[in-house]
Amino acid sequence: MRKGKTFIISGPSGVGKSTVLDALLRQRGNVYFSVSATTRDPRPGEEDGVHYHFLDVDTFRAHIVDDEFLEYAEYVGNFYGTPKKYVDLAINQGKDVILDIEIQGAIQVTSKRPDVVRIFIAPPSWSELERRLTERGTDSQDKIQKRLLRAKVEFQTAHTYDYFVINDTVDNAVMELNAIMTAEHCKPKERMEIINGR
Ligand code: ADP
Ligand code: 5GP
Repeated sequence: MRKGKTFIISGPSGVGKSTVLDALLRQRGNVYFSVSATTRDPRPGEEDGVHYHFLDVDTFRAHIVDDEFLEYAEYVGNFYGTPKKYVDLAINQGKDVILDIEIQGAIQVTSKRPDVVRIFIAPPSWSELERRLTERGTDSQDKIQKRLLRAKVEFQTAHTYDYFVINDTVDNAVMELNAIMTAEHCKPKERMEIINGR
């Protein structure tokens, strides 16, 4: 059976990754969104096991020791990690996997799985990014400033990604993500395997 592909989506906090991915998942079948573990507190409306697995630091560290993460990283004072088990299960079921992870995690996954496809999502401008972070209303001014500083560092790595999507409107960003995922399945290697297998 055809195996799924892994797609990494990275981009500054507040750019709209969750919003765009929610819309994409409603349109596109055969995709597994990897639910990360984190030590940060849930935001209003976030559900344990749906948006994140919310863990205390000791439990998170125990998962590191037990080698349960495909990757993990510290981001603005909290830990975030991708549980390995479900990612492998989905890929073996032929599903595409989406990882919404920051740049340190993206580097770790790429070194373990070089065939991963990496997509960077950017805002249309810095002022719009600050506006979205502020409007979301989930972070203190101090946290927003820390996330914006981090965003500048993340932006420096954007050229190392395979694709660059600008989230000006959600519809445009979803259309481009859909196009990228579809194109990645039209590579000769995968297509010829299908034909040769018939
Ligand atoms: P991220 O997951 O990247 O941290 P979110 O998906 O939480 O970002 O989006 C941050 C804020 O920006 C939310 O309030 C969301 O409604 C808003 N947003 C997302 N995409 C757009 C867009 N294309 N235009 C305007 N606002 C957007
Ligand atoms: P937030 O707190 O805004 O949900 O996420 C903060 C940052 O952590 C975002 O850049 C998001 O992509 C990243 N992130 C979420 N889950 C993971 C994960 O499992 N691993 C890594 N490395 N980063 C993650």
